[in-house]
Amino acid sequence: MGYAPPDIIAPAGDESRLTKTVLITGISGFIAKHCALEMLASGYRVRGTVRDLSKAESVRTTLAAHADTERLDFAEADLLADNGWAAAMQGVDGVLHLASPFPLIQPADPDELVRPAVEGTRRVLGAAIHAGVGRFVQTSSVAAILAGHPREREAPYTEADWTIVDRPGVTAYERSKTLAEREGRAMATEAGPSFHYSTVNPGFVLGPALDTDVGASADLVLMMLRGKYPGMPRLSFPVVDVRDVAKAHRLALETSQPSGGRYLVASEPAWMIDIARALRARLGEGARKVPNRELPDFVVKMVALFDPAARASVPKLGLHTRFDNSQTRKALGMDFIPLSESAPALARSLIALGLV
Ligand code: NDP
Repeated sequence: MGYAPPDIIAPAGDESRLTKTVLITGISGFIAKHCALEMLASGYRVRGTVRDLSKAESVRTTLAAHADTERLDFAEADLLADNGWAAAMQGVDGVLHLASPFPLIQPADPDELVRPAVEGTRRVLGAAIHAGVGRFVQTSSVAAILAGHPREREAPYTEADWTIVDRPGVTAYERSKTLAEREGRAMATEAGPSFHYSTVNPGFVLGPALDTDVGASADLVLMMLRGKYPGMPRLSFPVVDVRDVAKAHRLALETSQPSGGRYLVASEPAWMIDIARALRARLGEGARKVPNRELPDFVVKMVALFDPAARASVPKLGLHTRFDNSQTRKALGMDFIPLSESAPALARSLIALGLV
């Protein structure tokens, strides 16, 4: 029997969106709030999970500045506990599973990240399958693609590549995202063809922050603006605007592509100095403390002796992370906002929020 994709959740212009409910896990997060806006603006009902319902009102206030929040409600659930997930799935047509810890500094115990990421995926996916939810998008990362490969590799990375988790230098976060995506894919395959599953694998996320609860990627730009870095380490990673990440989540949920899609969502590879230059070029005085030079590798290695944040970056110094996401562009019909816009947009929002 050939593959029969389940119903597309609600394509553009389809009024039935008004009756479709999408559950967004970890709605208090930087990316998830943009996903909520994208789904509300596209006509869906949105239910967001928070670890503690006391956080719900601040999320509503943030979103209400940009969208009608009448079609928004909340459910309480933690990735590390079963409670709440079955109730959260009631009446849900599609899930965007974003909740997962994303710290700037790696913990000493990798399980602090791996456990919530993997167990959380198991809980959220299990509850979705059990409730008969038809469509599921898991937020993975380029962290599940790029890490642990030989330094001499020259071929650009694609959706076909996987992080090799048992290699030295692979961080706890990279491990957590890779194992969580592998778990999600295995469960989705087992659930069979009536369950449509895909992953969005974003690069490092820039673009406007909506409130002061900014998350780790915005923290990096915040520290650049505050003059906390004497220079930029020679680190490179794919970057992407948060508005594109949100759009990719919606498109992955609605796509008529077969289940199992893996969408590498990034505009371009960037060295950290490129981010600094984009800020200096567009922000003028606002970027006066942003470094305008690279740090020699030996300096970063010396700092790494006593700074755990620098230590995690040492194996990646000088590695240029080229990628080819032409498949994603074609499958989702997407173009991406360039770094020259996404980095200043984040910086401007941080300044406007009074954080700098
Ligand atoms: P944030 O830190 O802003 O958001 C993380 C979210 O996960 C928060 O809502 C947080 O809740 C929730 N969360 C963390 N631990 C738990 C838990 N035990 N139970 C329930 N919820 C939990 O990060 P981002 O928005 O940047 O990241 C969102 C997703 O995108 C993550 O899966 C991340 O790995 C992925 N990603 C991020 C990239 C980036 O550059 N930002 C790049 C690629 C992927 P609370 O508010 O209560 O802490």
